[in-house]
Amino acid sequence: MKLLLASGNAKKLAELQRITAPLGVEVVQPSDIGGLPDVIEDGATFAANAAKKATEGARHSGLWTLADDSGLEVDALDGAPGVYSARYAGTHGDDAANNAKLLTELAGVPDGDRGASFVCALALARPETGEIVHEVLGRTHGTILREPVGTGGFGYDPLFRFSEPGFPVTGLVFATLSAEEKGSVSHRGRALRELQPALASVFQH
Ligand code: IMP
Repeated sequence: MKLLLASGNAKKLAELQRITAPLGVEVVQPSDIGGLPDVIEDGATFAANAAKKATEGARHSGLWTLADDSGLEVDALDGAPGVYSARYAGTHGDDAANNAKLLTELAGVPDGDRGASFVCALALARPETGEIVHEVLGRTHGTILREPVGTGGFGYDPLFRFSEPGFPVTGLVFATLSAEEKGSVSHRGRALRELQPALASVFQH
């Protein structure tokens, strides 16, 4: 059985692929099946957008489909950029412009008030019908720096210092972590680990 990862973002695909590898399922990308039609991400929540992407992907491909919708919620900005994370500065996926806008918005915010979390919704949809059989939400907490640090990861990673106490990577910036280190505490890693039993039960039958 194959599992379609319904994301066009190469960096997210690589993360999802690395974390689903232990399942031993054949993971398929949109490019392997001639692409997927664009999904209009007009949901009010990450969960709604993930479900929409999973359902449409499963109907189009006829495969089990896993979709991710994710982003950054900044406390001092009442949860913005939230579902608009990818297009915060206007152009979809312009990480440099998005990061610059975030720094501008937070310019006057003191260090103690720069808390934020990354959120990742994952939805697993059944082939053909697109019925959602499982949904999870992963979250990770940090603070927003005043300037970018590191070259790894993608999106807001150079501005996000992981702040949860008690982990080997506590206090480190996401863009300085290896893929394994980031996956051990990231919103996406946590969501995927929570989804693991559901994936295993689907793919072991
Ligand atoms: P999506 O592709 O519509 O889910 O948009 C996700 C956006 O949220 C990305 O373009 C990034 O700006 C941001 N984002 C989501 N996950 C991460 C992450 O792991 N690191 C950094 N930025 C992320």
